[in-house]
Amino acid sequence: MTNLAMPHPYHLDNWQKSISDLITNPNELLAIAKLDPKNSRFSKLATQVFPLKVPRQFAALIRPGDWDDPILAQILPKVDENTHSTSHSHDPLKEAQFTPETGLLHKYKNRVLLITAPHCAVNCRYCFRRHYDYQSNSPSQIEWKQTFDYIHRNKDIEEVIFSGGDPLALSDRRLAWLINQVEGISHVATLRIHTRLPIVIPQRITKEILEEFENSRLKIVLVTHCNHANELTKITEHAFAKLHKAGVLLLNQSVLLANINDKSLTLAALSKKLFSQNILPYYLHMPDAVQGTQHFAVTELKAKEIMEELRGMLSGYLVPTLVREDPGAPSKTRV
Ligand SMILES: *Cc1c(COP(=O)(O)O)cnc(C)c1O
Ligand code: SF4
Repeated sequence: MTNLAMPHPYHLDNWQKSISDLITNPNELLAIAKLDPKNSRFSKLATQVFPLKVPRQFAALIRPGDWDDPILAQILPKVDENTHSTSHSHDPLKEAQFTPETGLLHKYKNRVLLITAPHCAVNCRYCFRRHYDYQSNSPSQIEWKQTFDYIHRNKDIEEVIFSGGDPLALSDRRLAWLINQVEGISHVATLRIHTRLPIVIPQRITKEILEEFENSRLKIVLVTHCNHANELTKITEHAFAKLHKAGVLLLNQSVLLANINDKSLTLAALSKKLFSQNILPYYLHMPDAVQGTQHFAVTELKAKEIMEELRGMLSGYLVPTLVREDPGAPSKTRV
């Protein structure tokens, strides 16, 4: 007999339960993927540098028995991560010099980026923040005041970007407080939220958060972070439909990742599926040269060839802009 009171394994009614019940044990992940943990590709050592963290319903999208599954490849700690590369570093973007206040990055004239949350719902192996010291970059209450004072003083700032970590990993209350601070700065017109949560835990898009967005005087832009069409499901479609209806502009950024999405056909399928869920492709990032991620690297020559093919396959508005981040440049660099 089935027990009706038994919670659904993915806590579909409660995103907070999902986020506090992540898969952190590699053996569990490999069991779901139906793969042998003794296989040499998996590395326990890599989890000590950057822990394994995956929401259960995201892991459920893995095609079993396939080491090259595009979702598994984004989350599985591999031996390749332990190779030291002289062309890669811990802070390739030299972000410290653009940090006038704790947790605030001011690199580009009219917009600032805030490190609003010290963690994410998923640890992506290619992450450029895998070595980031969230501890010493998490503002205290006094430092938050200084951060918002900085934005108040700088009348050039028209857009505030919530980044992280993942801003939607914060509680609704915390998020509402942050949005409220931004709303109080009259020269800021746009709030942008960079997040992977609607992809990995779509039920994060609650009635409360939708109301928060609907009632804000700010223009809200939500930039999702999705690298492969397999990440988009009926459940994400539902979440994005609600955001779209609430007047939120939906964009996506991807990272160009070797053996995951470095084919024009794969990227074309991603763009089309994003569009079917009300999302427009925004950026396709060259991976940053972060230590431990060199096996994801794609050369610029190959990237340009892929883009050329992609332009022949898609409407112009479905082609993302290929960009690279150069420390000190006044904007992202078009490749
Ligand atoms: C990427 C980035 C932005 C946003 O740049 P857009 O080109 O507007 O998307 C803003 N601030 C920082 C520090 C960034 O790294
Ligand atoms: S969600 Fe973004 S910031 Fe968080 S681990 Fe993944 S790539 Fe990094």
